[in-house]
Amino acid sequence: MGPQRENKLTYPGGKMKFSNPVGEQIKENVQQKEALIKEIIEKLKKKGLKITAARVKVIEYLLQYGKHFEIETLVDWIRERCKGKQELEKVCPSRPTVYRTIKLLEELGYVKPIFKQNNRTIYELTPLGEEHYHLMCVKCGKLVEFENPRLGKEIRDIALSQGFRYLNHNLEVLGICPQCQEEEKEKQN
Ligand SMILES: [Zn+2]
Ligand SMILES: [Zn+2]
Repeated sequence: MGPQRENKLTYPGGKMKFSNPVGEQIKENVQQKEALIKEIIEKLKKKGLKITAARVKVIEYLLQYGKHFEIETLVDWIRERCKGKQELEKVCPSRPTVYRTIKLLEELGYVKPIFKQNNRTIYELTPLGEEHYHLMCVKCGKLVEFENPRLGKEIRDIALSQGFRYLNHNLEVLGICPQCQEEEKEKQN
């Protein structure tokens, strides 16, 4: 703990609401996006799952969305994109298809729930990503991502020291962001 750790915050709190750099990077890179879609489809096939047009659409939209997301928000966003466009409406994935596809992607390790609070689950896209953690403001829902390799190593070492074969870990850090603290102060005055 100390100033050094603070410096490891990739983004200072404030402007990065629901940002997901890994997702944004994929969103910008067409080649990477297409390679990833191919890879995911191959994995689905290997599991013996049907590759429907709607399912592929969910994957495409998800990569396009490129942010931390709740499934319901993603459903709305996809609907918005299909609306009024005949070609898109024909293959617009239904809500159950979105839910099912995200669950499959979670099983395959491409999507990971990062926060489970009050019946809400926030997910993010995981491939190619550096290991990172999240702070969440319980007042406004802002997410701040930070990296800390030392923390990850320590957690893995603990698992190993207990004789575990390490798989994965999850860390939810809740708090109140600087802006919301300011607002609280203003209200008190
Ligand atoms: Zn993230
Ligand atoms: Zn806040």
